[in-house]
Amino acid sequence: MEELALFGGRPVRSEKIYYGRQCIGEEDIQAVAQVLRGPYITCGPKVEEGERRLAEYIGARHAVLCSNGTAALHCACLAAGIGPGDEVITTPMTFAASANCAVYCGARPVFADIDPRTYNIDPESIRARITPRTKAVVAVDFTGQAVRVREIREICDEFGLVFIEDAAHAIGTSYNGARVGSLADMTTFSFHPVKTITCGEGGAITTNSDEYHQKLVLSHVHGITHDESLMEDAPHEGIWYYEQIALGFNYRMTDFQAALLVSQLEKLEAFKKRRQEIVDKYNAAFRDVPGIIVQEEIPESDTCRHLYIIRLDLDRLSCTRRQFFDAMSAENVQCQIHYVPVYWFPFYRHMGYRKGLCPVAEEVYKGILSIPLYPMLTDADTDDVIHAVKKIAAHYAR
Ligand SMILES: *Cc1c(COP(=O)(O)O)cnc(C)c1O
Repeated sequence: MEELALFGGRPVRSEKIYYGRQCIGEEDIQAVAQVLRGPYITCGPKVEEGERRLAEYIGARHAVLCSNGTAALHCACLAAGIGPGDEVITTPMTFAASANCAVYCGARPVFADIDPRTYNIDPESIRARITPRTKAVVAVDFTGQAVRVREIREICDEFGLVFIEDAAHAIGTSYNGARVGSLADMTTFSFHPVKTITCGEGGAITTNSDEYHQKLVLSHVHGITHDESLMEDAPHEGIWYYEQIALGFNYRMTDFQAALLVSQLEKLEAFKKRRQEIVDKYNAAFRDVPGIIVQEEIPESDTCRHLYIIRLDLDRLSCTRRQFFDAMSAENVQCQIHYVPVYWFPFYRHMGYRKGLCPVAEEVYKGILSIPLYPMLTDADTDDVIHAVKKIAAHYAR
C-alpha cells in the first residue's frame, strides 16, 4: 500500500489544487476593459443588458442584478413582505446568508431537516415546521441539484407561503426541463468567484411576477423611483425629480461587473458540460470505494453541479473526517467543508438554537468534504484527486 503524504509518503501531486476556482478568459477581460474605457462604469447600459440576457437564458419574466447573492436574498425577503414576528423555513446545510436574510427583516429562521441521500431540504420536514407565523420557504439548491420543486410548490400553495429559491449553486440547472430561476416565486443567484459563473461580487433575483419585480427594483436602489406612475407627488416638477417611496438599500451592481457577467453567461453551457464530465468521472471512480458515499440525484434535476461532495462512511473507515481532510491536504488536494449546520454558529446559539434540531443534517455534516470541481481542472488533475481519495480510503479501510 502507498504511504500517505501525511506520514511522509510521496504526495499524489506537487502543486496544490483547491476545491473551486473562477475561470476568466481574455474575452472576459476585454469586456470589462471596454466598459472601463467608456462613459458609464455604473448605472449604465450593461446592467440592463445583463438583466435582459439572464432573464432570457433562464426563461423568467424579470431579472434584477444586484451587488451579491446575500443582497439578492435580502431583497427577495423584503419583496415577500417578511417582517418582525414572521418565520422563514430554510435548510441548515447552506451558507449562513440563506438564514441571515430572514434575520435582516426581523424574522426568525426555522431550520427544516435534509434528505440523507440528496442533502437537499426535505419537503416533509418543511411541512412539519409550519406554524401560523410561517411566511416563506428559502429552499437551497445545494451543490447545484434542484430541490423538490413540485412538492415545495404544493406546500407553499397549501399554506399561502412565498417560495424563495436560493440558487447560488444552481445557475444552469433545470428541473423537469425548466431552468431554475423560472420556477419559484423568486429565485436568487450569486456570482462570487467560487460559484459557477462570476463577476467578482454579484447577485441576481429572477421572478415571473410583475409585483415582486417592482419591489425588487425599488429595494436595491434606496427605494427611489424615476417612474412617474409610482410617484405620490406627481406630476413632477421637472426631469431631475425622483421620489423615495420606500426604504431601500444601495445594492446595485456596477456596469463593468455586469459586462463580466454577460461574458461569463455565454460560457455557462460549456462550463456545465465540463463540470458534468468531471462529476461523471468522480461518480464512476467512487461508487464502489468502501467508506465513500456518493451524493444521489433526483431524476427531475438536470444539474449544473457547483460542488462535488464525498461523504465518508465513518463506520467503514478507521479515521475521523478531520484526519481524512488533513490527509487530502498533505496530498496537495485542498478540500473544503460545505457546510457547518448554520444554527451551530455562536450567533444562532445565542438566539436560542440548539444542537439536535436537524439530526440528519448533523449526521451528514460529520462525514462530508468537498473535493475540487471547476471547469479548468485537467484530466490529470481529476486523476490526482481520485488517486488521493482512493489512497486515503484504502489506508483507513476497516
Ligand atoms: C454564496 C452563497 C450565498 C451568498 O452569496 P454572496 O454572493 O457570497 O453574497 C448565499 N447562499 C448560498 C447557498 C451560497 O452558496
